[in-house]
Amino acid sequence: MRRQQVKGKYEALEAAADALLGERRSLDFEEAMAVAELPDEALPSIVALAHQVMLDRCGPGVALESIISAKTGACPEDCTFCSQSAHYKTPIKVHPMLDTETLVEAARDSERLGASHFCIVVAVRGPDDRLLSKVLDAVAAIRAETSIEVACSLGILARDQAFALAEAGVVTYNHNLETARSFFPNICTTHTYEDRVWTCLHVKEAGMDLCSGGILGMGESLTQRVEFAFELRALDPVEVPINFLDPRPGTPLASMPLMQPRDAVRTIALFRLVMPEVLLRYAGGREVVLRELQAYGLVAGINGLIIGNYLTTLGRPPEEDIELLEQLGRPPVDQSVIADRAKLEKAIRNGAENAEPVMEEPTVTEGVVLIEPGKPVRFIPPGVAASARRRAIWGDTSESAQVSLTEGGTAS
Ligand code: SF4
Repeated sequence: MRRQQVKGKYEALEAAADALLGERRSLDFEEAMAVAELPDEALPSIVALAHQVMLDRCGPGVALESIISAKTGACPEDCTFCSQSAHYKTPIKVHPMLDTETLVEAARDSERLGASHFCIVVAVRGPDDRLLSKVLDAVAAIRAETSIEVACSLGILARDQAFALAEAGVVTYNHNLETARSFFPNICTTHTYEDRVWTCLHVKEAGMDLCSGGILGMGESLTQRVEFAFELRALDPVEVPINFLDPRPGTPLASMPLMQPRDAVRTIALFRLVMPEVLLRYAGGREVVLRELQAYGLVAGINGLIIGNYLTTLGRPPEEDIELLEQLGRPPVDQSVIADRAKLEKAIRNGAENAEPVMEEPTVTEGVVLIEPGKPVRFIPPGVAASARRRAIWGDTSESAQVSLTEGGTAS
C-alpha cells in the first residue's frame, strides 16, 4: 500500500508527510528516493515539509558551535578532498598541536560569541598516547576555566580511548562517515568505512554524543546521497554536520565543479526527512556553495551552525550568522536542548507508557520532562546548567545532579 502511494510525483511528498507527521514513523529508502527524485519545481514543497518536520521534532532553535584546528596538516591518510593530507602538495600551513593556554583562550572566545560547544580538531589518523594526553589536559583546563561544553574530533579511536575522553568530560565526539559506503573507496584508500563505523560505535558505547556527517558534492550520485543519509541514520547520531566540497588546490578533487545550490538545499531537506530528530549542522563550504541560498538551507532543516572559521577555510564573521538567525526568527539554543528533545521523541516512539511531552518548546530557561520506558517520569528544572542537566537526565547520580533535581536551583 505504501509503495503505491509513493509512485506519483507529488504523492511522494504527501506520503512522506503522512509518515513523518501523521504516523510519526521513519521513511524507508524507497520513500526517501521518491521525494529525492521529484523535479526542481517541487523543491519549495520539499523544503516546506522539511521545515515543518524540523519544527515538529526539534523546535526553532539553532545550536551554535565553534571549532579549532588544534593540529593542522601532515595527516598520513589520503582522503581526496582534504588539504591536510600529507599525500598531496597543498598550500596548507602545517602546525603541531597547539598548547593548552591557546585552546583555553579560543574556548573563552567561543563562549563569548554564544557558542554552547567548542570542538578540538586534530588532523591525524587517530591519537597516539602523547596526543591523547595533551588533549585530555586541554579538556580539563577548558572545563575548569569556562562553562562551554567540549567536543573532540581526533580521528579513529580505540575503545579505551573513547572511554578516556568520555571520563574526561568530552560530551560530543565527531567522526564523519564522510560519504555513502558505496562511494567511500573513491575518496579514501588508507582506511575503511568500517574503521569509521567502529569509531562511531565506540563513541556511543562510551556515552558521548555521536556527531557524524560528511561532505557532499564529491561526485556522488543522488542515490548515494540518500544512501549516505540512511548509513548515518543507522548509527543514530545526535548531530550530523553537513559540509559542501569547496575544492582545495593540490588535492585530487581540486577541479571538481561546485555543487549546484539547489541540489545542496534539496540534500539538506532530504537529510532532515530521513533523520527528523537530528541536529543538522551547517559546516564548511556553505558560503561558497549555497551563496544567496544560505538562509534557504536554514528553512530546509538546518538547526545548527559552525560559527567563525572552519579547519582550513575561512567562514564569514559570526555576527552575520547571528543577524541572519535574528532575521529568520530562529533563536540560538544550547545544543543539549535539541538533543534532549530528540531523546524524548525517540522514547515516545519506542513505546514509553503514558509518554507525552508536557512542554512543547523547551528552551534553556525552561524545564524538561523526561519519559523513558520502565522508569519514573523525571522533571529537570529550569535554570540548571546544561552540563549538569545532561548528567541529571542521562543517569549520572553525582551529587550536583541530584541536588539540581531535588532543589530545582542552579547546579554548579
Ligand atoms: S579528512 Fe581527516 S583523516 Fe582524512 S586526510 Fe584529512 S585530516 Fe586526515
